[in-house]
Amino acid sequence: MIILMHPEATPVEIDNVIATVEARGWQTHCSSKSGQMVIGLQGEGQPIDPFHLGQMPGVLETMDISQKYKLGSRDFRPEDTTFTIGDVTIGSKQLAIIAGPCSVESREQLLETAHAVKEAGATFLRGGAFKPRSSPYSFQGLGEAGLKLLAEAREATGLPVVTEVMSPDRVPLVSIYADVLQIGARNMQNFDLLNAVGRSHKPVLLKRGMSATVEDLMMAAEYILAHGNSRIMLCERGIRTFDQKYTRNTFDVMAIPMLQEITHLPIIADPSHGIGVRRHVGAISLAAVAAGADGLIIEAHPNPDRALSDGDQSLTLEQFQTLMKQIKIVAETIGRSC
Ligand code: PEP
Ligand code: MN
Repeated sequence: MIILMHPEATPVEIDNVIATVEARGWQTHCSSKSGQMVIGLQGEGQPIDPFHLGQMPGVLETMDISQKYKLGSRDFRPEDTTFTIGDVTIGSKQLAIIAGPCSVESREQLLETAHAVKEAGATFLRGGAFKPRSSPYSFQGLGEAGLKLLAEAREATGLPVVTEVMSPDRVPLVSIYADVLQIGARNMQNFDLLNAVGRSHKPVLLKRGMSATVEDLMMAAEYILAHGNSRIMLCERGIRTFDQKYTRNTFDVMAIPMLQEITHLPIIADPSHGIGVRRHVGAISLAAVAAGADGLIIEAHPNPDRALSDGDQSLTLEQFQTLMKQIKIVAETIGRSC
């Protein structure tokens, strides 16, 4: 259950409500939503009569929420969450197009990519400086030097930067350089990290774990929301199924309309990791836009065959430019733009 207090509720009234529910064995989580105090009930307490609570001084409304996740649900917030970064309002009619290499490799590689994707219509630059690689022998990223290059590319192009943070202790460092903190699929349930990015109040791109259900994704987002950070983009990036001969993952296009029904948070699609095959990234991008995604994150590289990570799924800069024209057509067909 969630209790929405009146905007003019006094601290005494709020304390009274908290004391009443805690006396029945519930834990409470308080957050402020547009100046209004919201009290969420957590744990396993004795049943509470919502009518009785609704009569208490200062209480505006009580909401019975059946899902395990609360703050991320449409019941809690029926209207879409939107937030502006740079020139783009995420969750608006305009799609967010996040493009760039899997890894930041060099100044030349990053700047060439950044200028090209900007020219083609991208609104964010992506690039990994800290890379979560399946093998400890693979390229692990340039670290802080990579972050500095991302900041330089932002300076040169005006594109805000999306980059991954892998551990809670690196959140302060990555936050200096990044406009959006990416949580990778392998870290979707790293709860210490989710708490740290929640506390940072930076916008977050939260990727779905490769064996995570839609509910698992929502629960991960709930960790971040619980700290009062609601600038979250959920990212469908493909899940593990049984076919790994032809495709890297199975891009779950169905998750897009389903998430839109159950949550107010914007949804970004990652066709690159979704299918993992360069020649089909375009088809999956268009499918994701048609299904209602609020944006795309696409890997592009000046010379994908030489890329230090994920070259097989990275578009050439020319391919990205061509794809952007197709994305525009599909976006306009469904009343969106990019
Ligand atoms: C990436 O974006 O390069 C990445 C490692 O993604 P994921 O966490 O989805 O595998
Ligand atoms: Mn990658």
